[in-house]
Amino acid sequence: MINSTKTCLSDPVKLQKHEVINVTKTYLPDRTKLDMYIDKIYSTAWVTNNGQLVKELTARLEEYLGVQNLLLVTNGTLALQIAYKVLGITGQAITTPFSFVATTSSLVWEGIEPIFVDIDHETFCIDPSKIEEAITPETTAIVPVHVFGNACDVDNIEKIAQKYNLKTIYDGAHAFGVQYNGRSLLSYGDAAILSFHATKLFHTIEGGAIIFRNKEDLERAKLMINFGINGPDSVVELGINAKMNEFQAAMGLCVLDEMDTILEQRAEIWSHYENSLKGYVQLQKRNFQCTNNYSYFPVLFKSEEKLMEIKASMNANNINPRRYFFPSLDTLNYLHPHVPQMVSWSIANRILCLPLYSELSVHEQNKVILTIRDLL
Ligand SMILES: *Cc1c(COP(=O)(O)O)cnc(C)c1O
Repeated sequence: MINSTKTCLSDPVKLQKHEVINVTKTYLPDRTKLDMYIDKIYSTAWVTNNGQLVKELTARLEEYLGVQNLLLVTNGTLALQIAYKVLGITGQAITTPFSFVATTSSLVWEGIEPIFVDIDHETFCIDPSKIEEAITPETTAIVPVHVFGNACDVDNIEKIAQKYNLKTIYDGAHAFGVQYNGRSLLSYGDAAILSFHATKLFHTIEGGAIIFRNKEDLERAKLMINFGINGPDSVVELGINAKMNEFQAAMGLCVLDEMDTILEQRAEIWSHYENSLKGYVQLQKRNFQCTNNYSYFPVLFKSEEKLMEIKASMNANNINPRRYFFPSLDTLNYLHPHVPQMVSWSIANRILCLPLYSELSVHEQNKVILTIRDLL
């Protein structure tokens, strides 16, 4: 293969170890194993287009997650967009204002109008009791989010969707590996999506996946992510390019091998936060029917002023938590003015995600905890 450009990867500059504690740090797996996969890629010179490693990662993820009909794609945002296209979503979709911007922007990008339904003030997930009143003749789908890996009320949402003949697409970007009532949370809905961005629990540098309920939808999506091409000289429908490449898959295979360790380390950190901060701040009420994947540790303060005071104090000590999610998505400037989603505003203004990653030491974590406790 002759490429017109060649990326030059020089030796990494030896960085001095700063004592910066960010909200997350990308997990980099065993280098020797990654090299082995890269040697494989070099030996075949097959770098993309449904290669061997993408096939291997697809099979291994289906097994690990306990799902079927999984399709790897370029990133989580395209996963959402492809899912809407395959399922024929048009008009309006009901969604949550409390999420990462991609949940809403992907709808708008596909020409679908987001209709916001407020969240529950304890679980931070869409409030199913408010969904029915937001349904109009234009509504074709519900797009809920498993916020911070906490299962939203899938049972009631699925009931509503059936009653009104709506499709459900779950944004499960945070829900990697979460089990609900003994089965994968990602097996709910006509489709569920995952993000494998470097900041997520499991990652492929950039990447994502769609899990379809129906095999026919998977087969359509396979065509769609490859320009609608179904063979040499044959284009059967409108498509786009959303394929995962072999280097992404190599990273994923290596990280997947280390998931047990990653989860153990994160569970320990998560529990230390919980034990040290409960009673001081409000914590997310977790759905008791789902397992914890320890993907985020959000804390809620009494007021935005308190949050800003604590955040400033942390920043002064090189600790960089993040305001996930802020602002509430109904305030996005490219949307028609919406009815303010008051619960979402209230949570978005007061919530902070604390540093949580495998390498975070107890010493560093205690610095975070003490900064909070000292100012309450
Ligand atoms: C990260 C994220 C996305 C987007 O995924 P990318 O892989 O970054 O495109 C979508 N929704 C939520 C809730 C996310 O956190």
